[in-house]
Amino acid sequence: MTVKELEAQRRAKLKAAKPAVYEKVLKIKERFEQGIPTPIVDIVYSYACNLKCSHCCASKRFIPSRPRQKLTLETLRRFSDQAHAYGLCQFNLSGGEPLLLKNFDQVIEALQPDKFHLSMSTNGFFLDKEMARRLKNSGWDKVRISLDNFVEEEHDRNRNCPGAYKKAIQALENAKEADLSVVIQTMVSHQNCRSGQLEEMAKFATARGYAVDVLIARAIGELEGCHEVLIDEEDAKYISDLHKQYPVVHRDTFPAYGMDKGCGCVNAVLQLTPYGDILPCVYIHIAIGNIFEESLPDILKRGMSIKHFAEYNPKCLSGEDRGFIDKYMSKFYGKPLPISWQEAFTDEDFIS
Ligand code: SF4
Repeated sequence: MTVKELEAQRRAKLKAAKPAVYEKVLKIKERFEQGIPTPIVDIVYSYACNLKCSHCCASKRFIPSRPRQKLTLETLRRFSDQAHAYGLCQFNLSGGEPLLLKNFDQVIEALQPDKFHLSMSTNGFFLDKEMARRLKNSGWDKVRISLDNFVEEEHDRNRNCPGAYKKAIQALENAKEADLSVVIQTMVSHQNCRSGQLEEMAKFATARGYAVDVLIARAIGELEGCHEVLIDEEDAKYISDLHKQYPVVHRDTFPAYGMDKGCGCVNAVLQLTPYGDILPCVYIHIAIGNIFEESLPDILKRGMSIKHFAEYNPKCLSGEDRGFIDKYMSKFYGKPLPISWQEAFTDEDFIS
């Protein structure tokens, strides 16, 4: 199947399942051309997790040492109302491990499944057949399941959990059986990029009807400061060539649905933390505002006034653009997270 055919298939599925969301999604291209951001919001309701992955980017430094206001079901509902009014159409619940949430059903309700395309990033440990059906029945559309490679011992070692590999493989099948869209999320570093494991994953995903989201390694979280893991230009070309051969392989810098957004900070992605901070991307731990202090449109306006996020960049700022990584990502190394936009940027970083 070509990229266009895959995209058409996904849009048709959304149109049938959630016609009102489909209508919003159709407007993204026009909004993009007018410079209006329509980000997918990655929502962290809690950082709690059952695994201890060696490449985890949800650093413990996100847990504040002093009490801070936290998201509640009411604030989440208010946020989803604001997001809907602004024209946003996609949420991704991450963490931590979202399937650990005790009030999971209420969180889903607060996210208003009829108004948004809902996906979730999970390690798959708790995604058994019953949970997969429950997700589908409650309005979930897609699951993104982390898988390192097909070497069981290596996956389990990376996750510090025997049995994690088997659970992840079974979760992929369970989600597919429940008619959820299935994405394998896999981290690719300079060390493993051209080892052949990504092609093996591409073949596996193509045969099973899954997609593969390539998450390039970032020198943050457990890998903070380890710049040797960052991919280089040859690695990036390899992934791009693999995408041509296996269209299910995707990076978020690749053009999609007739739009070439390049790096999608603010324009195509945002993250909401449990403390209300809005980050321009899951991997850039610099807050561009806080929903307890400002409205979402005001925060988006600020984000789009920062040159690095407003201007087109074909490279991923957080994992590929060495200039941005050296000058800005390194500013939050070793600090309580996130740092604020005032600490990270000066006047020269804003569009005058
Ligand atoms: S910094 Fe990288 S991961 Fe973040 S939005 Fe840009 S391309 Fe995507």
